[in-house]
Amino acid sequence: MGKIGPMKIHHLQTASFCPYGGPLLHDRGLAGGDAHLICHSLLIETNDGLVLVDTGFGIDDLNEPKERLPAALLALMNIKWDLGLTAAQQVEKLGFKRSDVRHIIPTHLDLDHAGGMPDFPKAQVHIYEDEYFAAMHPQTLNEKQRYRQVHWRHLPDWQRYNLEGESWFGFPAVKPLLGAGKDEILLVPVTGHTRGHTAVAVKGDHGWLLHCGDAYFHKGQLDLEHEHCPLGLDLFQRIMAVDNEARTENVNRLRELKRGHQHEVELFSAHDKDEFERLAARAAV
Ligand SMILES: [Zn+2]
Repeated sequence: MGKIGPMKIHHLQTASFCPYGGPLLHDRGLAGGDAHLICHSLLIETNDGLVLVDTGFGIDDLNEPKERLPAALLALMNIKWDLGLTAAQQVEKLGFKRSDVRHIIPTHLDLDHAGGMPDFPKAQVHIYEDEYFAAMHPQTLNEKQRYRQVHWRHLPDWQRYNLEGESWFGFPAVKPLLGAGKDEILLVPVTGHTRGHTAVAVKGDHGWLLHCGDAYFHKGQLDLEHEHCPLGLDLFQRIMAVDNEARTENVNRLRELKRGHQHEVELFSAHDKDEFERLAARAAV
């Protein structure tokens, strides 16, 4: 039952936050009210079942947040407790079964990207090896807070990857082994936010999509004419980075990629709501 042509890609919003201190987190300054961040996941129909890129929070996270998520995050992030946002419920709403999700590709294993993994316990999880080790062996308080062991207590079928000499627009990259059609999805390491953070490149109807995860947070960071980022979000990215130099270097590499190839590659962040709305609207046409 081979499927011909580009893979069908769904854009899912799998979390919603309106962090306190909002005016520092968006473009419009104090007049803008609360900032609104999201989690942007992709659900991809492939020859080898559904592939979920980033998961947002899981059902248990929303039902038992105090048991599963750090108190500081709950105090600051003003998370929307809506089970309808979970990837699990959205997969079902699209007419699929949860077990149809055969593969999960997290950009990294932070709690807002890996939280939904337990809702798809049989899925293989494809991950860059450096990120796997960072999450399994957290070294600092920052890493102990951001990685929640409860998100992999179900012992997922981890598929770990080293860089093996693939190249994608000049970036070293890895092809996860997804069975048939495996050529169309790649892990592209862009570290700094975490030790093994990757972007995920997916070939779709409109050329390449590059899910940049948390390599940047705000669309203004990739604005080629007028690079900008709200103060609070800039600070947050610095605080959360395990290697801020690598992080900023990688933002520059992504800007260069956009400068040279913006007709072939569309870049987006996991958390920018405007980018999500634009891509979701285009996919719905
Ligand atoms: Zn994140």
